Amino acid sequence: MTLPGPLHPSPRLLLGPGPSNVHPRVLQALSLPLLGHLDPEFLVIMDGVRSMLQEVLQTKNELTFPISGTGSAGMETCLVNLIEPGDEVVVCVAGVFGVRMCDIVERCGAHLIRVDAEWGHPIQPGQVREALKGRTPKLVAIVHAETSTGVLQPLEEISQLVHEAGSLFLVDAVTSLGGVEVRVDEWGIDALYSGTQKCLSAPPGLAPVTFSPRAVEIIGGRKSKVQSWYLDMTMVRKYWGAERFYHHTAPISMIYALYEALRLVLEEGLQNRFQRHRENHELLREGLSSLGFKFVVEPQYRLPELNAVCIPEGIEDLPSRRRLLNEFNIEIGGGLGAFAGKVWRIGLMGESCRKENVEALLSALKKVMG
Ligand SMILES: *Cc1c(COP(=O)(O)O)cnc(C)c1O
Repeated sequence: MTLPGPLHPSPRLLLGPGPSNVHPRVLQALSLPLLGHLDPEFLVIMDGVRSMLQEVLQTKNELTFPISGTGSAGMETCLVNLIEPGDEVVVCVAGVFGVRMCDIVERCGAHLIRVDAEWGHPIQPGQVREALKGRTPKLVAIVHAETSTGVLQPLEEISQLVHEAGSLFLVDAVTSLGGVEVRVDEWGIDALYSGTQKCLSAPPGLAPVTFSPRAVEIIGGRKSKVQSWYLDMTMVRKYWGAERFYHHTAPISMIYALYEALRLVLEEGLQNRFQRHRENHELLREGLSSLGFKFVVEPQYRLPELNAVCIPEGIEDLPSRRRLLNEFNIEIGGGLGAFAGKVWRIGLMGESCRKENVEALLSALKKVMG
């Protein structure tokens, strides 16, 4: 073997569906000396992460901490801890990530009831009401910000229907957290997972989760063991809680990174951060419209941090994105599934969501579209 050369990643502007760019303070945090995972100094850092996460999630939930793994590990954690074989589970599907939840639900041995919306549209409360008629499923799961389509799913009305039916309400907030309002307690969310590499702007590798007291009670009353050893909250929580009981070695550097990323979020203030995402989305929307791009999603359901636009006639998908990357160091996302080859997904997430980045992208697009 000849030794592979040293690392020289290009300074990309990450304007895709994630990861987003990270702040230099987060990169510095990643380079700090390691502590042991039971070092009293590290336990203080863990407590800081937990309390900052509660603040960002707008929740008092005791059971709130980051799972070791990406957003999908958060998805799996919420589902495998709440579902037992034979349970009925409703999953709302309006894009790729709803489909992924269905796959996990079936692997849990649950009876899946699927509610579908056309891609590019949100789930309507009436559809959930219909699915809940005469039923009390264990839970209803839904994606808040569907990164594959650019839809921001309204949650409050659906949450109310779910609770009237006596079920738990589970939400995917991987792309929404840190970019738009996510009010866990006020919206009656019982279980929620997110990821670090979208609007929180830390590297990928951790998945913040939170469980309501009612969800905790249901986990405590399980008849069967959680099917995943690694993601079993009844064990992992003993490390993040007062016991500090070893389960698996915490990814120390990633927890430093999340700590610093959360400090940045709270220094800016949630409302300022949401406004910055809205303003830069508007700027991008104006620029893209004048270049002839049409948005996939109706204005009232548009996600500011993920702009799904139809590729204009005569513009080639892959060659154009390749030029953006090679000549301008800018990454944007292509379409997934039904949208492959037809749609571009332009992310303005967290640190990437800056006026100068919008301007850089628009000027590069002008040249690429020649
Ligand atoms: C990115 C994403 C996920 C999956 O997260 P990974 O970090 O890629 O595992 C899940 N749900 C949504 C809505 C996402 O955008």
